[in-house]
Amino acid sequence: MREARHYEPTDSSVRFFDTHAHLYDGRLIEVGFDPDKVLSLSAKAGVTRILIPADSEESSRQAMDYVASHDGSFGVELYCSVGVHPHEAKTYTSDVEAFLITSLDNRDKHKIRALGEIGLDYYYDLSERSVQREVFIRQLEIAKECDIPIILHERDATGDCLDILKSFYSRGALRKSPGVCHCCSMSKEAAAEMVKMGFFIGFDGPITFKNNKKTPEVCLDTPLDRIVIETDSPYLTPEPNRGLTNNPEFVPYVCSRIAEIKGMPLEEIARVTYDNGCKLYEITEG
Ligand SMILES: [Zn+2]
Repeated sequence: MREARHYEPTDSSVRFFDTHAHLYDGRLIEVGFDPDKVLSLSAKAGVTRILIPADSEESSRQAMDYVASHDGSFGVELYCSVGVHPHEAKTYTSDVEAFLITSLDNRDKHKIRALGEIGLDYYYDLSERSVQREVFIRQLEIAKECDIPIILHERDATGDCLDILKSFYSRGALRKSPGVCHCCSMSKEAAAEMVKMGFFIGFDGPITFKNNKKTPEVCLDTPLDRIVIETDSPYLTPEPNRGLTNNPEFVPYVCSRIAEIKGMPLEEIARVTYDNGCKLYEITEG
């Protein structure tokens, strides 16, 4: 297997926030990326904060456990989310909902900073569409009741997704800072509507892919104060490491591509996206 290229920060003041990495995923463990390896490599690359998102009750528990056992290792601060992904919508029951609400009631203890991933995925259709919509709407209601940002997963479902979000928005049922459109694959027009509702837009590996013309355009149009960077590890590995297993140490490559698109220094993009990540997940310094 080819060797990964490791990012070396230009100076020690450059910090990165990987706002989306599934560190509990079995694929990372399989290739030898235990927590110590992941967090030491991340720290070397200047990644000092990581949020671990969930997609089911099981992975919500795994994300919380990962944070409980490894927060602060190698100086990397960890946070997590709980939630039910559209793929898993068919597993949503009143017991799962009770679990989500209890977890959110104890959010400080577990360092839970968002409800997600939630949303719609009509590309894989792993749960029936009507069930996906119902579960998405229910979790949007919980996000409002519990006053927590969401992590939105949307694929090939922009129309329905925007309809649902706009109906919440127009009756004041979305938070002022409603969350993040993770791994945004929307058109620039749709992304602009998300920004208008107060969402952050998340970019990851695909923005670095040579054949991807659409995402760089969306990025160019999105105001920098709305952009966050993410890896979605272990998936979507950015260039120059595409094809290898993704981990948060590669998030600087996403940042560097955004710097290129925006025509700005990487250090500036790193600083602003770091602050944006803290705003999104309501993390105060210190
Ligand atoms: Zn994800």
